[in-house]
Formats: sequence, structure tokens, C-alpha cells
Amino acid sequence: MSVTKEQVMEQLKTVMDPELGKDLVTLKMIKNVALCDGQAKITVELTTPACPMKDKISFDVKKAVTQLDGISMCEVEFTAQVQPSPQQQAKDSNPLPTVKHVIAVGAGKGGVGKSTVSVNLAVGLARAGAKVGLLDGDIYGPSLPTMLGLDGLETHTEGGNMIVPFDVHGIKSMTIGKLVDPDKPLIWRGPMAHGAFNQLATQTLWGELDYLIIDMPPGTGDVPLTLAQLLPLTGAVVVCTPQKVAQDDARRAVRMFQQLQVPILGVVENMSYFIGNDGVEYDIFGKGGAQAMAHQMDVPYLGGIPINMRLRANSDNGKPTANFEDDAQLGKELETVVKNLAGQVSIQTHQTEMATPTISIS
Ligand code: ADP
Repeated sequence: MSVTKEQVMEQLKTVMDPELGKDLVTLKMIKNVALCDGQAKITVELTTPACPMKDKISFDVKKAVTQLDGISMCEVEFTAQVQPSPQQQAKDSNPLPTVKHVIAVGAGKGGVGKSTVSVNLAVGLARAGAKVGLLDGDIYGPSLPTMLGLDGLETHTEGGNMIVPFDVHGIKSMTIGKLVDPDKPLIWRGPMAHGAFNQLATQTLWGELDYLIIDMPPGTGDVPLTLAQLLPLTGAVVVCTPQKVAQDDARRAVRMFQQLQVPILGVVENMSYFIGNDGVEYDIFGKGGAQAMAHQMDVPYLGGIPINMRLRANSDNGKPTANFEDDAQLGKELETVVKNLAGQVSIQTHQTEMATPTISIS
């Protein structure tokens, strides 16, 4: 007797999404089951195109389905649909209704690689197939004009006061650095900083985005407060280098977001280690320091990025995609951080959905 789709679905109830902790059928991730001559083709819809668990899910689905008598082969096909964060849907008068997730990238202090990480997260998510925007919220020291190579590009507006973002490296981006004179110091008083950030975030024509990454000013000043009040943040990423002194600052950044009720999506350890021409790994700043800090604070750790000359040069030359292509080790580490972030966004969305109380009136 040939196997039915119902039997396959029943079998798929044994396959768990390892991050969301429920089976694929309950999570409504099985979009299609096709059966023909003892062969099965299963279409699984992931919660993000950058899913870190893709290979495991594929393996587990194949294993489960081929256990059925009468199925000799199983193929798995993936699609992805990013679900908007519940915060995004809940916020009254949401200023960014077409953006599914707003993610802040912060750091306890400057120079730890916050902008570098923001750029590579954005480009990495886009390379995985997501629709991504990147906002340079570092209104005191915007780095994106250089890191994205925007220098030769002109800023355009549409309909009077809406700014058209730059479409580069597969992402949409906007920075205050393209709206002011680059040689003048950027001095903002509190309300002006608030206004400038507000305008940049809400007067850019982002269109439909899965993720909007915001490169924040370093430290724990005014802008994060504005951001948390203005935009429905899915969460924040904190960038930290491994040394003890850097960890102390990063801890303060983590606490600031927590105080603002912004979930911590994870800590990234930048300048984690260095691989010399001799192929030896040197732990210049003490690899694992930021990871240990994340562990102590009970927040996720997204991964470590090595000190890498190409990464620095690609940033200076405005060529971020090269980071994923030129150096296998660097590309692998960056992709890990990108996937882990995407995974945490899905977990956060799922948990908040589960935690939302429902009231039934009879
Ligand atoms: P922040 O935004 O925290 O001030 P940046 O991202 O602007 O820091 O980085 C500061 C400098 O360090 C930049 O020149 C950048 O290219 C370089 N840099 C950052 N991370 C790395 C790294 N992992 N390897 C090499 N250079 C890096």
C-alpha cells in the first residue's frame, strides 16, 4: 500500500525545530508534501532565509520520512518567510510599518567594531536572501559613507521630504554622513540628536524590509533612549572586544538595553583572535572574554570575528561583500554570526508571540 500525505505529516510531527522547540507541523512550517513512486519532496518554510538550523532540519526531515515503509528517497526544499515581531505589530502608530524587525547594534564604547559588525550583519543577511536596511544611527561619528563606499553617490529626496536610501551591496542604507558636510564636526544637543535620529529613521523610504539594522552611537547616551521610545525594537546586539576593560563597558550597554526593556539578541566578540601568516592563532586580546561575559549575563553569544587585515581594508574601501568571499575563515565566522542573529530574532519573535496573553470573551 502506498504512503499517504497524512502519514508523512504524522511522521513530520516527530521533527523538531531545534531552536523553537516545537515540531514542524505544529509550527506550520510544512508547506507542501509531494509523493511519487516511493519518493517524497517536502517543502519547509523557514522563519528566516539565514536559518542556522537549515542543515539539521533537512537531515531530520529526510531521516523521519524515509523511515516510512514505502518511501525510499526524500528531498527537502526550503522557502523562508520572516514573521514580523509582535512588538512591530502591537505598537500604536508604528512609524515603520513596512519593517518586520528593527535591530539595534550598540557597544559600550567606540572603536570596538560596532559599525563593522552592523555592516557585515546587514550584508550577510541580504546575501542569505533577506530584505535588509542599514541605518547609520551613529550621528556623532557616521562611518557608513566610507564602509559602504557611498562617497560618489548623491542623496535624493522624493515627494518633498522623504529620503531615498542608497541601494548598495544588496541592502538599502541611509546615513547622516550623506546629509551633512563631511568636514564639519557633528555637534548635537539632546533635542537635536533626537530630531536628527527620528528624521533619519522615519523619513527614509525603506519599503518592505525583513530586517532594519541600526548602527547606534557608542555608549549609553540619548539616542538609544530615543530609539527605544520611537521604534518597536525586536532587540539589540552588543559588540565587544575580549579584554576585561571592554567587557565592563559592554556590560553597561547590555544593562542599558535591558533597562529600556529591549531584549538582548546577543553579544558579538569582535577582534576575537588573529591568524598570522604562519597559520598560528594568536589570542591578542584574550579570545573568549566577551563570550564569558555573555554567559555570565545570561544573554546569547552570537560568535567571534577575528582581527583581519582584509576586513579592515574592505571597510576602508567600501567593499563589504568581499569579506564573505575573499577569506574562507573570515567568511565562515561572519556567516555564523549572521545566522545566529537571524535565529535569535526568530526565537524572540516566537517567544513573544507565545507570551502574548489572549483574552476570550464568551
Ligand atoms: P566602532 O563603530 O565601534 O567605532 P568601527 O567598526 O568603526 O568601530 O571599527 C574601528 C576600526 O577598526 C575600523 O577601521 C575598522 O575597519 C577596524 N576593525 C573593526 N573590526 C575589525 C576586525 N575584526 N579586524 C580588523 N579591523 C577591524
